[in-house]
Amino acid sequence: MAAIRGKNTKPELLVRRLLHRLGYRFRLHDRRLPGKPDIVFQARRKVVFVHGCFWHQHEGCRVSHIPKSRIAYWTEKLGRNVDRDASQKRALEQEGWAVRIVWECSVRRPHDLAQELQAFLGEPRFASRSAKAKTEWQRAN
Ligand SMILES: [Zn+2]
Repeated sequence: MAAIRGKNTKPELLVRRLLHRLGYRFRLHDRRLPGKPDIVFQARRKVVFVHGCFWHQHEGCRVSHIPKSRIAYWTEKLGRNVDRDASQKRALEQEGWAVRIVWECSVRRPHDLAQELQAFLGEPRFASRSAKAKTEWQRAN
């Protein structure tokens, strides 16, 4: 289960693929930023974290339930993750970054997720550039 917490998890790859298809370009795991955000939109000053529902305790999500055995252990361990997430988010926001958490479970609804991400990020630069190129081409021809 340790792998779930690492970089390049399956939900993360799905989110990256989705963003790419929508026309966004981004950097990955920028270690200069607090919490080393999974996906970084430098020019927009926005970051996205893809969080596992269990490890990061997605509130109200059925995947996030703490196991019935060793409750004290898990409560403490997962509580530390939640605290760390919150302080990293605060640190990023203090540096002027907008932070968006994508929960693992939302990847199952890619259409909704795409709309949420577009609302957060704004117009993709790549798509708008190609639209501009198209109108210029139409004008020239
Ligand atoms: Zn969830």
